[in-house]
Amino acid sequence: MTGTMPTVDAIRHNEPMSKHTTWRVGGPADVYYSPRCRDELLEFVRTLDADTPVYWIGLGSNLLVRDGGIRGVVIATGQALNGLRNLGGGVVEAEAGVPCTVVARQCSRWHLGPAEFFAGIPGTVGGALRMNAGAFGGETWERVTEVDVADRHGNVRTRDRGAFEVGYRDVRGPVEEWFLAARFQFNEHYEAAADRIRTLVSERQARQPLGLPSCGSVFRNPPGDHAARLIEAAGLKGAREGGAEVSPKHANFIINTGGATAADIETLIERVRATVRQVHGVALQLEVKIVGEPAGDPG
Ligand SMILES: Cc1cc2nc3c(=O)[nH]c(=O)nc-3n(C[C@H](O)[C@H](O)[C@H](O)COP(=O)(O)OP(=O)(O)OC[C@H]3O[C@@H](n4cnc5c(N)ncnc54)[C@H](O)[C@@H]3O)c2cc1C
Repeated sequence: MTGTMPTVDAIRHNEPMSKHTTWRVGGPADVYYSPRCRDELLEFVRTLDADTPVYWIGLGSNLLVRDGGIRGVVIATGQALNGLRNLGGGVVEAEAGVPCTVVARQCSRWHLGPAEFFAGIPGTVGGALRMNAGAFGGETWERVTEVDVADRHGNVRTRDRGAFEVGYRDVRGPVEEWFLAARFQFNEHYEAAADRIRTLVSERQARQPLGLPSCGSVFRNPPGDHAARLIEAAGLKGAREGGAEVSPKHANFIINTGGATAADIETLIERVRATVRQVHGVALQLEVKIVGEPAGDPG
């Protein structure tokens, strides 16, 4: 074993994904790997068979993992890849595991921005890059100049933003590559960020059910409208399936009221989608990612 090989602690078998998702649901991952650093991660990836399914996650804040869990390997960058550096000239390099909230606060201290919108996003930079996460008019990819990616052979490349198709809460790029880090070009001498962060966080607290397990917005907003408005107008606030409930506070949030299964949440998602289609004629598109196998399905 070399110094960069994973320790037993870093690799867990049959790890319940409910421990690693903000909805607090999800069956076991066959293998769950939480690397300590980039070199160890790359070494680990090189040991995987070509046909082993690999799924990278950050903080699981946009994930519905089904009750039967995930076959293959889950790689969770949230505990590692934590480097955040000011490279000068307004350029910030953030590794994939850095929480978005840390990017917002540190950029504010460095007088760089705009990065305040990151403050309310409870995920990592890696997840934000995959989702083009955004809020209050700001979006992740607006300031990305280039990213470092790894493929399943453990090769690392730097790609500029032209290699990616960046859309609303969706980013497409070369297949079987995952984000290790990104470089952002921010404005220098940027002021008033700290005040704005406070305002944005309290606006969220007023509008969203933040103390309860959720995944934020379940559906993307359709062009020119808001998913929450459509769901509320369809009379679905407070609708329930088992332990899952359409939040009475924000209709585009589904909360786990305690004891919900992933199946409860998925059933409620489908009910909301069908009702909104029936009432408004609008086909809502999912923002959250649904992964894994249903309970009892051997895969
Ligand atoms: C209370 C609450 C509020 C929220 N508010 C917002 C908001 O205002 N705006 C917003 O956009 N989102 C919001 N979200 C959703 C979520 O926080 C974002 O989508 C976030 O970017 C997901 O990051 P994550 O690290 O948790 O990713 P995960 O949920 O772990 O993964 C999300 C996707 O990213 C992929 N991924 C993760 N890491 C990598 C990587 N290193 N390389 C390649 N792919 C990767 C995963 O495979 C998956 O497809 C909210 C969620 C909650 C719970």
